[in-house]
Amino acid sequence: MTGGVSYREPARTTFRRSRIRRIRVAGLLVVIAGIAAALGYQALASSSSTASWSPAPASPIHVLRSEHRHALGEADGAVPDGTTVFDDEIPGVANLDPALLGALRRAAPDAAHDGVEFVVDSGWRSRAYQEQLLHEAVLKYGSEAEAARWVATPSTSAHVSGDAVDIGPSGAAWLSEHGAEYALCQVYGNEPWHYELRPEAFDRGCPAVYADPTHDPRMQR
Ligand SMILES: [Zn+2]
Repeated sequence: MTGGVSYREPARTTFRRSRIRRIRVAGLLVVIAGIAAALGYQALASSSSTASWSPAPASPIHVLRSEHRHALGEADGAVPDGTTVFDDEIPGVANLDPALLGALRRAAPDAAHDGVEFVVDSGWRSRAYQEQLLHEAVLKYGSEAEAARWVATPSTSAHVSGDAVDIGPSGAAWLSEHGAEYALCQVYGNEPWHYELRPEAFDRGCPAVYADPTHDPRMQR
């Protein structure tokens, strides 16, 4: 998370500096237009930043998604910022397994009662989207083995089958306390945002988490 933000900062500064330099050599109209554009850019930059207020770690998928959202359509499962579990018009939400979605929608009002909103950072994803995320993860983490700790293949991902959802930090923190009451369980120790439905949780509580996806038998190819 912080790595992603810190390498974005210099680019932003350079962008604004070169903009200012161009403004100096141009006329008054260009100055006015430049200020308007800079304000718009700042608004865009602040609205796309999730790092400053996050009470818990956020999914790296969310970072990848934000940086590449224009390369991936909503039809592939990319979700706009602020998407909730009630946004039926977003395929990433609508294509989730109905039982999982139902559990999320039962839990959401109770979370809202505690002042917490379930923001969907990622839900259902197409195979193409998952393939792209995996490719980006290999570049980001340096090897397929390390990438496998964070991103599954299109054949094994519970996101592709619609059986997993990545919830924003405050919602995930709420679920870590109350999720079992709705059969919503964290599955991986290294992914506090990733939730799946575990009906047995009603009787026995959520099963023990795997340290990371490489320990999950479902992930073996
Ligand atoms: Zn996930």
